[in-house]
Amino acid sequence: MKPETLFQPATPPFLINPHPKRLFREAIAQLPMNGIHTICEEAKCPNRGECLPRHGTISIMVMGSICTRGCPFCAVATGKPLPLDPEEPGKVVEIARALKVRYLVMTSPNRDELQDGGASQFTAIVAALREFNPDLRIEILVPDFQGKEESYGVLLRNPPDVVAHDLQTVPRLYHSIRPGADYERSLGLFRWFRRKADPSRVTLKAGLMVGFGETEGEVAEVLRDAAQAGVRFFTIGQYLKPPGSSLEVVEVVPLERYQRFTEAGKKLGLAVQASPLTRSSYLADRLAAENKRP
Ligand code: SF4
Repeated sequence: MKPETLFQPATPPFLINPHPKRLFREAIAQLPMNGIHTICEEAKCPNRGECLPRHGTISIMVMGSICTRGCPFCAVATGKPLPLDPEEPGKVVEIARALKVRYLVMTSPNRDELQDGGASQFTAIVAALREFNPDLRIEILVPDFQGKEESYGVLLRNPPDVVAHDLQTVPRLYHSIRPGADYERSLGLFRWFRRKADPSRVTLKAGLMVGFGETEGEVAEVLRDAAQAGVRFFTIGQYLKPPGSSLEVVEVVPLERYQRFTEAGKKLGLAVQASPLTRSSYLADRLAAENKRP
């Protein structure tokens, strides 16, 4: 055994969320999830003791748990997905009701095999949630729908409060970290919504993970591109290697850099949520509440 393998670096304290995770486990333990997964649990998110118990925020994955792409940073299985569940809107409503959710983030795996990439299922679920509780805040974290504008249009039939899309990394690293995606295509999604959506109803949100070896200047360029494309909310958090992933953490980004990201974003008119523990849905309720349009 090499000497260095005897010592594993300790997790820095700023990557530990102190809120007890049992609060989340207890909340969902008795709940029939009916095939709907939470990202909080599936991704073993470090914040799951905080978001639902303290803020009434949950992140769920609809349309199954099999993705048609295979990004190495992600723990979601790749393969042939199951058909869509027509009962899913009602099931999501039941989860929101049972957990007294106040801010619901809904995402899906890439469903590239579907004609509309799953857009009509998103919009059906949003409609059901609106009918159940018009005060519920709804954020949809969407795939790129392969750039199909018809799919974007379907999402606006029942507009959510926030349309989020993760840029994930800087364009230089797309080929290794986000194969199958395209930086310009993702920006194109935001530009389309900037032109077509009512900005008083729908806010655009983007996100990045850091720690892949990107430079600070590259992150600043992404912030600028996003702001120009119409994004208002931006999240930045540390990449943590999920179980089974082959993609290593290149760098644990120091705390002071997040402060600089936030300042750089502010100058561009972005409301930035940046910290080591930030995920796309982390403190999503607070980011939205503190940055309401006048
Ligand atoms: S950050 Fe998102 S995935 Fe993590 S616990 Fe909070 S809502 Fe769930």
